[in-house]
Amino acid sequence: MIKKYLLALDQGTTSSRAIIFARGGKIVASVQREFKQYYPHKGWVEHDADEIFDTQLLVAKEAIKKAEIDPNEIAAIGITNQRETSIVWDKATGKPICPAIVWQCRRTAEYCDELKAEGLTDKIRMKTGLVIDAYFSATKIRWILDNVSGARERAERGELLFGTVDAWLIWKLTDGRVHATDVSNAARTMLFNINTLQWDEELLKIFGIPSSMLPTVLPSSGIFGQTDMFGASVPIAGVAGDQQAALFGQCCFSHGDVKNTYGTGGFMLMNTKDKPIFSENGLVTTVAWSLDGKADYALEGSTFVCGAAIQWLRDGLGLIKTAAETEAMALEVPDNGGVYVVPAFVGLGAPYWDAYARGAILGITRGITKNHIVRATLESMAYQTADLLFTMQKDCGAKISSLKVDGGASSNNFLLDFQADILDMPTIRPTCIETTALGAANLAALAVGFYSSLDEISSSWAKDRVFLPSIDADRRSRRIEMWHKAVGRTLNWL
Ligand code: ADP
Repeated sequence: MIKKYLLALDQGTTSSRAIIFARGGKIVASVQREFKQYYPHKGWVEHDADEIFDTQLLVAKEAIKKAEIDPNEIAAIGITNQRETSIVWDKATGKPICPAIVWQCRRTAEYCDELKAEGLTDKIRMKTGLVIDAYFSATKIRWILDNVSGARERAERGELLFGTVDAWLIWKLTDGRVHATDVSNAARTMLFNINTLQWDEELLKIFGIPSSMLPTVLPSSGIFGQTDMFGASVPIAGVAGDQQAALFGQCCFSHGDVKNTYGTGGFMLMNTKDKPIFSENGLVTTVAWSLDGKADYALEGSTFVCGAAIQWLRDGLGLIKTAAETEAMALEVPDNGGVYVVPAFVGLGAPYWDAYARGAILGITRGITKNHIVRATLESMAYQTADLLFTMQKDCGAKISSLKVDGGASSNNFLLDFQADILDMPTIRPTCIETTALGAANLAALAVGFYSSLDEISSSWAKDRVFLPSIDADRRSRRIEMWHKAVGRTLNWL
């Protein structure tokens, strides 16, 4: 039977999604299912790993049904996933020994402070590219070994396995035959040496994690195993963490190619090819993917609150009914009326790194309307994105020429027009903004010969719209200056 389709499994933080792509990246069917979030204590976030797998399997089966295709027509499966979330399970029974600890969970923050106090910051940064933080998997695994009864002894006897969500899905889909992850996910554990592309013995010792628990690390594009769960034997052939998959889905294959995802938070990644660039300004360094025996690296920066600021306008302030109406409201006024919104609701990330900053609305006069506030909120998303991009430029010492965008809020034309103005560079939105799933599918496609080269993949990537800068340098620098002045008023607030 002719292999005409790719199946992408997009396992996110709040939902599991499956998309069937035809040649050229055309979406044939897409099915999504939310699953439960658990908040057992303040700052803790957990998932049920079995529910993650069950919902993922269900949406994949439904997508195949909805697309009305024969599973034998699927050339390969690509997996992309919420990163860093940690699962430990019993090798013999396949049962998780406790809930999955989600990337957002802060339960190991104090332990991270201890690691910093021990002076491990530079060592960890140079080996893993990461800043010491509770987000990454290492301290979560250690927490499980220290707090689940008998876990450490069982791990030392080789009875337990660890995986990020990709490894868990691969293990379940192959009925326990394959325990593997890809380099992009391994790079988010804080146990993986991104220079040697191997688990780091010294870090394993520091965190007290037996190496027998760890999955084999494989290239992002290559055969991980076969699954029989969809009525045919299908290879799992591409795996990458969500942000790296989006970089691949945006065809950012060359040095200096950058994409920004405007989701709940904002994530910017730049491909730096074979050189890991270690940031002097609070960005992290990660592996983008590896294929054909070579790894590409990426520089990454994130903003905690991006589209979430729009949710706040809707749910917190009641200023809007839907996110979509913000575009027309922003255009009702000729400018922001001097208003700046700094959405530092949970502090500020790169390049400020101030956990004590808090949000503010500045520059209000009697003539200010809700349209100004809405406009200033959208503008804040662009300013924060610009801060990341300018930081990347500083770290890599080269001028970036354009920005590719995706994520829910990238449908807002006002936002992208303003983004182009502030960056003074073309801001490009593709026709397919499901870039995360597309990236995973394309990684798989390369491995099985569905596509023959990166060039072939690039040729099917299409622009929806290019937003061009339209303001002069003076106005641009005045606005950026006012934004930085506004940010300055929010720093060290608590
Ligand atoms: P995630 O994958 O993080 O859940 P999405 O990529 O689905 O997020 O994007 C959803 C976010 O985008 C929400 O925070 C929402 O407020 C914002 N958003 C969606 N549509 C628009 C719009 N037209 N204008 C501005 N923000 C939007």
